[in-house]
Amino acid sequence: MPRMRKKSDLPTKVCATCGRPFAWRKKWEKVWDEVRHCSDACRRRRKEGGHSCPPVCDAAR
Ligand SMILES: [Zn+2]
Repeated sequence: MPRMRKKSDLPTKVCATCGRPFAWRKKWEKVWDEVRHCSDACRRRRKEGGHSCPPVCDAAR
């Protein structure tokens, strides 16, 4: 079922590292289901924390 997607109506998620909500971005259109961090910084911080990041995180850059 098609949905109108306005700028103000982008899907959002909560970052797994900083806990803040972030909105869909064009660069994530193919990997949105896998995106769990709001930014590169958070993604890296997560990695340093000993959590092994799936390859798709790199694709989401
Ligand atoms: Zn974050």
